[in-house]
Amino acid sequence: MVTYEHLKAAHAGIVDDMTLEMKASNLDSSDNLSKLSACVKCGFCLPTCPTYLLWGNEMDSPRGRIQLMRAVEEGRAPIGDTVIRHLDRCVGCMACVTACPSGVDYTQLLESFREQIGQSPQRSVTDRIWRRLLFAVLPYPRRLRLMKVPLVGYRGIWSLVESLSLLQRFPRWFTALADLGCSINPDGFTGSWPKQIPAVGVSRAKTGLLTGCVQRVFFDPVNRATVRTLTAEGCEVVIPSQQGCCGALSWHAGLNDQARRLAKSVIESFERSNVDHVVTNVAGCGSVMKTYRQLFEGDEKWATRAEAFSRKVKDISEVISDLTPTRARRHPLDIRVAYHDPCHLLHGQALRDQPRSLLASIPNLNILPIPEDNVCCGSGGAYNLLQPVAAADLGDRKIEQIRTVNADIVATSNAGCLLQIQAAGRRATHDPPVLHPIQLLDASIRGLSVNELLH
Ligand code: SF4
Ligand code: SF4
Repeated sequence: MVTYEHLKAAHAGIVDDMTLEMKASNLDSSDNLSKLSACVKCGFCLPTCPTYLLWGNEMDSPRGRIQLMRAVEEGRAPIGDTVIRHLDRCVGCMACVTACPSGVDYTQLLESFREQIGQSPQRSVTDRIWRRLLFAVLPYPRRLRLMKVPLVGYRGIWSLVESLSLLQRFPRWFTALADLGCSINPDGFTGSWPKQIPAVGVSRAKTGLLTGCVQRVFFDPVNRATVRTLTAEGCEVVIPSQQGCCGALSWHAGLNDQARRLAKSVIESFERSNVDHVVTNVAGCGSVMKTYRQLFEGDEKWATRAEAFSRKVKDISEVISDLTPTRARRHPLDIRVAYHDPCHLLHGQALRDQPRSLLASIPNLNILPIPEDNVCCGSGGAYNLLQPVAAADLGDRKIEQIRTVNADIVATSNAGCLLQIQAAGRRATHDPPVLHPIQLLDASIRGLSVNELLH
């Protein structure tokens, strides 16, 4: 019987042969070309690709994008409209990487091409201005704070536009901005943090917390739930005041210089605090911080520091899983939870069981599997602001799947997914509360009722 493992081995053989052939003919002198050649065009990745599921277009599948990149690399196609359009439409969800039996390094290929096309003059002027504005604000929490009043005011004006049925007259990114305005949390603009918070009882670990950029401003309650849970489980929590954005949003968009500057600052601030772990509750940040070395290829000093930093990075669900036996008592929560896997946790960090175990440790909590649970919700970095139509269509598809399981709430472990599913819920008639799993565990440890948790 032919199994998945047989196919994988067969593909590996094909790739070896291809690599040998290329070496013999001296065809391949580039690292990218050899990575691109690993694709044997089997199509196993197609059913997992959200943009291929949306449009059924080969050029919007991983295989099609790889062929486009190969054409550019071999000098058969320029970096022009077609290449930029189809690479921009990729959410960067990494589902194709998990599905690929040939081990194609799609993530690194995409990052390399996005760096080349990030500032391309082939982009329209409005596209370039919009990108410049977004990345001058999003990774900087102080600047995001300044946007509070304009965004809330903008949301009010937008409600009027919606009520007058004038939505179709505006580009979709107007709605995407209004969605951001809806998700603003007032605490995120005023909350401040002590530098050090002691463990409850004898300390068993010293953990640093990344408070993030978007996370800090939009999801301050998630950070507070994280700190309460860690200290209740016996961890001392250190929050370096100089930390900023980890660089994930910029790296995702091909703005590698900005990403490197931000990453250096994060590495330096946590090096000074001498912690056992650096904890994040945002899947996208964790996925990027665990692979910082790639950002510093060619700069050995920083690559070494980045690697040492990455070894300490853990998602909050990993830290909680490692803290056994648990110290804090869990109280029952009678609630049905649809758990959505963020791509940067599932594919980026191979963490499927840990968030589920965290939820399963809460008595009476019922975890409901969502159909198409390995398909992206359409949030990837700033995708919902850069590709608002595709992002909204994917969000709508996800909320339809969630609706089928009839859950009381949705839980997911990434700021982008929280924003995306909340926005899709508001567009649909099905608008369940969307929380981070750590908020449920925190509520259980504190003995809150479901009503207290949700209000
Ligand atoms: S990327 Fe991998 S799974 Fe997709 S077509 Fe290429 S070899 Fe097959
Ligand atoms: S990263 Fe996601 S959206 Fe992009 S090609 Fe792969 S599966 Fe498709």
